[in-house]
Amino acid sequence: MLLVESRNSNNKVDFKEAILHPSAKEGGLYTPLKLPKFNGLKYANLSYKDFALELIKSFEFGYEELFKKALQSYENFDDKQSPIFLRKIEDKLFINELYHGPTRAFKDMALQPFGVLLNEFSKDKKVLIICATSGDTGPATLKSFENSKNIKVVCMYPQGGTSAIQALQMRALDKGNLRIFAIKGDFDDAQNTLKNLLAKTEFKEKLDKLGYELCAANSVNFGRILFQIIYHYYATLQVGKGSKLDIIIPSGNFGNALGAYYAKKMGANISRIKIASNANNVLSELFTKGEYDLRGKSLKKTISPAMDILISSNVERLFFDKFGDKRTKELMNLLKNEKYFCLKKEELEALKEEFDADFCDDDLCMKFIKQSKVLIDPHTATCFKLVDKNQMSIITSTAEWTKFTPSMMKALYNKECENEKEDLLKIAKAYNFELKKELLELFHFESKASKTYEISSIENEILEWIKQ
Ligand SMILES: *Cc1c(COP(=O)(O)O)cnc(C)c1O
Repeated sequence: MLLVESRNSNNKVDFKEAILHPSAKEGGLYTPLKLPKFNGLKYANLSYKDFALELIKSFEFGYEELFKKALQSYENFDDKQSPIFLRKIEDKLFINELYHGPTRAFKDMALQPFGVLLNEFSKDKKVLIICATSGDTGPATLKSFENSKNIKVVCMYPQGGTSAIQALQMRALDKGNLRIFAIKGDFDDAQNTLKNLLAKTEFKEKLDKLGYELCAANSVNFGRILFQIIYHYYATLQVGKGSKLDIIIPSGNFGNALGAYYAKKMGANISRIKIASNANNVLSELFTKGEYDLRGKSLKKTISPAMDILISSNVERLFFDKFGDKRTKELMNLLKNEKYFCLKKEELEALKEEFDADFCDDDLCMKFIKQSKVLIDPHTATCFKLVDKNQMSIITSTAEWTKFTPSMMKALYNKECENEKEDLLKIAKAYNFELKKELLELFHFESKASKTYEISSIENEILEWIKQ
């Protein structure tokens, strides 16, 4: 199967090309023209990895041996048998824990196998990946390319803008083919620096002279989306045994939720997909009012930073599937030029047939954390507002609480966090939670001096580092 551009489906590429060069001609995203049907029930008794391989095969991309190898990366997760853990917390409510990978956030679910694919596809050249992170993508990207021969990774994060654990996860990986920069500025500054570098011809020419090609492993890459379909389908089968249920998803860039939508289209027995946002509630407005309105909006900092997003890139793929390429292009242009669009009545109705959406502010989020019998992180907590107790549901849990100790202290004890390590240990003890030893070992890196970089110096720093 080929993938087509969401803004002009005449632009077609194969899977490998979509992975290596994810930016399409007209600014759209590579997407399947039509999702394949997959009879998951037939494979429900298989292990996660075997089920995943069957689902991927239904796309007919080829590369079967490579996918097998990629899926073996799930052996780096807590339980070698399955990367996901389904926890029953109420009669009709399950949590799908997707954070049992090496960096304790669901980003590992896609980036671990994706790293294997990109390593193979770039084996004849040298590649530089640059990423900007607000906390979870950075560690997961660094980890998935640790020890890669032909790939170097640069990761920028805002100094003081991530939790201490997230910064330590990155500092622990700052060696060999991996390099991190704590920058002066916020996440938007990091993101803009990345965008400017990706668009700068002069920079790319300099890299080219050094033998490197620039690549982005960002969340719109279809190679990441593919692995985000599987866990929704698999969990639906394990919990529902063939009967319908709702899936609730804490959403930012809409990659995770898109995976659930694709699973549903392929045949998973999902009744409703429920989109949870934080105070940056562009998605809940889209799905309830049919409006995408960025006018006069600025990003609000919340306790769920991975969802602090105003331009949610992957809704474009949903529009393509529902409304076709012309309308998608029209909507995306309106958003870019007018910072606003409004769906037609029938378009909104088409979305409402499958989606619900709501948002939680930080106070409500902390209330849900405190009420919960099991420890949930501030992103996952946004889902609880959307639970319908009469309906079998799965909450998609995207990060381990341990990455967000200061917010957890506030939510659980109404106290400011003074020492992250001590408070982490304190919460773990109170809830009888077994901390990973790798997590505690991170605090060794606390003493290592860390430098903060001016944004204007990043380009040169990268080039100097590449030369070494
Ligand atoms: C990335 C992330 C999200 C948002 O996922 P999207 O696919 O961008 O919607 C939610 N929670 C956590 C913890 C994340 O790291």
